Amino acid sequence: MKNQLQEAVKGNITPEMEQVAADEGVSAEYVREETAAGRIIIARGRFNDKKVVGIGKGLRTKINASIGTSSDVCDVEHEKRKAMVAEREGADTLMELSAAGDLDEIRREVLSVSSLPVGNVPLYQAFCETIRKHRDPSKLDPEFLFELIERQCEDGIGFMAIHCGINLFTIERMEKQGYRYGGLCSKGGTLMIQWMMKNNRENPLYEHFDRVCDILKKYDTVLSLGNGIRAGAIHDSLDRAQMAELILNCELAETGRKQGCQTMVEGPGHVPLDEIEANIILQKKMSGDAPYYMLGPLPTDIGAGWDHITAAIGAAQSSMYGADLICYITPAEHLALPNEEDVAIGVKAARLAAHIGDVVKLKGRADKRDKQISKDRRDFKWNRQFENMLFPEDARAVLESRKSVSDKGCSMCGELCALKNAEVTLNRFLEGDKLNS
Ligand code: SF4
Repeated sequence: MKNQLQEAVKGNITPEMEQVAADEGVSAEYVREETAAGRIIIARGRFNDKKVVGIGKGLRTKINASIGTSSDVCDVEHEKRKAMVAEREGADTLMELSAAGDLDEIRREVLSVSSLPVGNVPLYQAFCETIRKHRDPSKLDPEFLFELIERQCEDGIGFMAIHCGINLFTIERMEKQGYRYGGLCSKGGTLMIQWMMKNNRENPLYEHFDRVCDILKKYDTVLSLGNGIRAGAIHDSLDRAQMAELILNCELAETGRKQGCQTMVEGPGHVPLDEIEANIILQKKMSGDAPYYMLGPLPTDIGAGWDHITAAIGAAQSSMYGADLICYITPAEHLALPNEEDVAIGVKAARLAAHIGDVVKLKGRADKRDKQISKDRRDFKWNRQFENMLFPEDARAVLESRKSVSDKGCSMCGELCALKNAEVTLNRFLEGDKLNS
C-alpha cells in the first residue's frame, strides 16, 4: 500500500489525492503539494471500500466521533451500533477508544462495520492488558507496546493518537508549576506519566520515536501526536505544562514528516474563547502548519449536560481560526459513556460548528450553500432548501409537524410572513442581477 506522504514528495498524484481533490473542489496538484509539505494528511481505511479523508490546509474542517467501551459499560454490539450512527450522521472519522473487554475483538468488529478512517489510542490496550495481567500499570513492557502498535496498524487502524510528547522535561514543567485546577484528564497520558515516574524512565514513545514512525509509515497509518497534558479546566489553558508538550509535539511533527510519516498534532481540551486563536497560532507556527486535531475546545467548565453546545461554540471558533479536525463532544461528556442518541447529537453539533467556522475559513467555497439557501428561503423553494440544509430530515419533520395555513411561509409568522410581504412590496429590489448571482 502506498504511503501518501512519500508518494507526494516524489511528485506522484495517487488515486487518494485525486479523491480528496474531487471531494473538496480543489486541484489534485494542490493536494499533492500540501501533502508533500505535511500541511495535509490523508487518512483512510485499509480495505478497498473504505473512505478517504483529507485533513488540513485549505480543506473543509472534518469532524471525528469517538466511541468505545469502558469497564462500566462494555457491550461490543452497542459500540458497533454507535459506530454506524456516527457514520450515518456524517462523521468524517471515527475513533475506537475501547478500554474494556476483548480489545482485539472489539477493534476488529468496529472496523468491520465502518467505512470511515478509524483511529485509536494504543496506550489504552497496552495499559488495560498490563493491569489485567499484573494489576499494576507500571509493569507495562515497552516491547509489548510496540508490538501492539504494529498489530493495530495491521488490523487497519487509519490514524493513531500516540502520546510521544510527554517526556521527563514536560513532567518537570508540571511539577515546577505545582498546580492544576483540572488535574490530568487524558487516560493514556496519565497512565504514561505514572509509568515514567514509578520506573524513573523516559517515555518509550518519545525515546524511540523513530521506531513509532517506522511502524506507522510502513502501513501509512497517520500519526496523531496525542495530547496527554491537555487542559481539563479553562484555568489550565496555555499553562507551562501544556505548552511544553505542545512544543515537543510540534517538534516531533516535523521529525515524523521528515521520516515519511503522515503526522498531525492534537490539542488542547478546555480553552476560554479568547485563547483559542492564540492556541492555534502557536500550534501552526511551531509545527510548520501540521494539521491540528482539536479536542473540543470547551470554553467553559460548567456546561455538563449541554457540553455538545459548549464544545460547538469552541469548535466554531477553532474551525474559523484554522483547526483541521474537530473531535465531537456529546451531551454525556463529563457524565457517562455516550449512547446512540448522544452520538447522533454530538455529530450534528460538531458538523454545524465546523461549517460555521468554514464559512469564514473557506469564504467563497464553504458558504455557497448558505447563499443558495438564503435565496431559496426568500423565494419559498422549500425542496431546494432541504437539498442544502445540513439536517434536512430534522428540518422537514419540524415543518411537517406544524404546517402553516398560509400558502407560503411557515407557521412561525403565518400571515405576517415578512418574506411573503417583501415579495409583494419590494420585488424590484429582490430581482436584481447581483442578488441572483
Ligand atoms: S413565516 Fe416567518 S419564519 Fe416562516 S418563512 Fe415567513 S418570515 Fe420566515
